[in-house]
Amino acid sequence: MLKAAFPGSFDPPTLGHIDIIARAAGIFDELVVVAAENIRKKYLFSAAERSEMLGRLTEGLPNVSVAVCDSLIVDFLRKQGIRLLIRGVRGTGDFSYEFEISMMNKALDSGIETLFMTADPKYFVLRSSSIREIASFGGDVSGMVPPLVAQALREKRRLGCDNF
Ligand code: ADP
Repeated sequence: MLKAAFPGSFDPPTLGHIDIIARAAGIFDELVVVAAENIRKKYLFSAAERSEMLGRLTEGLPNVSVAVCDSLIVDFLRKQGIRLLIRGVRGTGDFSYEFEISMMNKALDSGIETLFMTADPKYFVLRSSSIREIASFGGDVSGMVPPLVAQALREKRRLGCDNF
C-alpha cells in the first residue's frame, strides 16, 4: 500500500493544487491532502474552510482524503503511518525552497521521503498569494481556481474581509 501526503496552506486551493492532487491520486493507493494550520500565520480561509473546500474538490477521487495539521508535518506523518510527502514545484525558485524544507524534514525524521512533482505548464504561474491579491481587487480568477473557490473568494470580498 503506497500512502502519501500532500501538505500545504491551500489558501485557497488552486487549479495547480488540484492538478497535483489528481495526478498523485493516480500514482498512490491513498493520498491525504493536509491543510496546514500554523497559529503564527494569517490565513484568508480558516482551516475548516480550506479543508471543506478541499473535501468538495476531491469528492470524485475515492482514494483521496483531507486532514488538518497544526503540528510539525513529520509528527503528523508518523502518527498516520505515512512516509511519503509530495510537494509540487513550479520552477527553480520553488525547488530550492522545497529542497531545504525536505532536508529539514529528513533531519527531523530520516524515514520521511519527499517526492517532487513538477507543475503542469498550464498552471505553473498559479500562486495562492497572487490569486488572493487579484481577488481582493475584484479581478477575475475563474481561470485559476475551481468555481467554488472563485465563489468563496467573492464572498470574502463581499463581507469586507481584510485578510487578503
Ligand atoms: P505552502 O505550503 O508553501 O504555503 P501552498 O499551499 O501554496 O504552499 O502549496 C502547497 C504545495 O503545492 C507546495 O508544494 C507548492 O509548491 C505546490 N503548488 C502550489 N501551487 C502550485 C501549482 N500551481 N502547481 C503545482 N504545484 C503547486
